Amino acid sequence: MVDFSLTKEQIDLQNRTREFAQEYMIPYAHYYDKTGEFPLPIIKKCWEAGLMNLAIPNEYGGLGLGSIEQCITVEELAAGCAGMTTSIYVNSLGAEPILIAGNAEQKEKYLRPLTEDLKFVSFACSEPGMGSDVAGIKTRVKKEGDHYVLNGSKFWITNAPHADYFTVFASLDPSKRHKALCAFIVDADTPGVKTGRPVEKMGHRASTTSSVVFRDAKVPAENLLGEEGKGFRVAMQTFSMTRPSIAAFATGLARAAMEYAREYVQRREAFDQKLKDFQVVSFKLGDMYAKVEAARLLYLKAAWAADNEMDPTIPASIAKVMATETAMEVAHQAVQVHGGYGYIDQYPVEKLFRDAKLYEIYEGTSEIQRLVISRHVLDGYRPAMEKIPKWYNNSPPDF
Ligand SMILES: Cc1cc2nc3c(=O)[nH]c(=O)nc-3n(C[C@H](O)[C@H](O)[C@H](O)COP(=O)(O)OP(=O)(O)OC[C@H]3O[C@@H](n4cnc5c(N)ncnc54)[C@H](O)[C@@H]3O)c2cc1C
Repeated sequence: MVDFSLTKEQIDLQNRTREFAQEYMIPYAHYYDKTGEFPLPIIKKCWEAGLMNLAIPNEYGGLGLGSIEQCITVEELAAGCAGMTTSIYVNSLGAEPILIAGNAEQKEKYLRPLTEDLKFVSFACSEPGMGSDVAGIKTRVKKEGDHYVLNGSKFWITNAPHADYFTVFASLDPSKRHKALCAFIVDADTPGVKTGRPVEKMGHRASTTSSVVFRDAKVPAENLLGEEGKGFRVAMQTFSMTRPSIAAFATGLARAAMEYAREYVQRREAFDQKLKDFQVVSFKLGDMYAKVEAARLLYLKAAWAADNEMDPTIPASIAKVMATETAMEVAHQAVQVHGGYGYIDQYPVEKLFRDAKLYEIYEGTSEIQRLVISRHVLDGYRPAMEKIPKWYNNSPPDF
């Protein structure tokens, strides 16, 4: 059976989040975009409203919601402000390696606090010299007695200066690439762990991005997530679970851009008529809507796979690349229909255009999604036509 309807609980969650975004995010999005301040009051409200850390299981005090619920929620939040949503959602990204590979003690120690108080966990994988090539991690880890010692630098780490702890990926021996990666939980107050100054960004300015440096940072052996040498798999499984949400972010931003454009073309006039009455303009709105709807279906399919214990990797990559490129295209056309007003900060589409770009970069660039999908088509995909029937034929059927 194929059923595109949401449950009553899902619709309630969607409505609650939509109201939250309109009351607490949109009115302050311009302020945080201009100042680049960390939107702590908004995040606090979001946590209090129970719209953060949705996947934490009931046994650790969380709501234990599925990927579909997470996606529905972040679509609404991202329609409010992409940058704030990145700051909010990074807790789910940072906690995902613990959900995937953590043991019961680690979950109790590091997941429960996220439900009891507003705590931040960041995901520290990328480095100054690598982002796409996760197997190329250079941060070193060495076992010494009952602890590990970390040395190296991470870069681009969202919420790093605010993090209470990090999920960190490091290598026992960089020459062994993915076979030597390990994942850890590292408390931010560990001696030898230092975060850098936030970097200035094109968009998502309400999220803080900075480096994290490890200098002889001693991490207790019990903070290893899973087994030594299995960190690459943990990172890849994490992305498979979180990419549907990034697609949902992008859908939310694209939807907002479409709605701002829709409103503008109904009141702005040129050549003595409303913009909406130029067919070329109305077709842009039609294309925006079609793309937003398609992006939503793709993220829902990926989230459905994740919720039903199917491997979400391929649908997640498809959703991520299609929805994030949709966000870029829709924001681009939304600026276009606003004319000069689309290019200034008094209208929201200028910000959406800047914010949209990041979706094509983080959590695996568009090129990396295409790499994953094309490998699947050539290696994993089972063709519907096991044997391609003969095509070139000049004879009519004899039946
Ligand atoms: C604002 C922001 C927040 C971020 N937050 C986090 C975070 O919280 N945690 C974290 O770990 N990381 C984070 N990142 C890092 C992000 O995931 C990386 O920037 C991203 O994965 C790309 O890596 P890179 O920047 O090193 O680019 P590179 O890997 O150097 O890629 C450069 C270009 O080459 C292309 N390319 C690379 N390899 C291939 C290939 N095999 N085939 C084809 N093309 C290829 C890429 O697609 C890209 O276009 C963040 C980044 C930004 C900008």
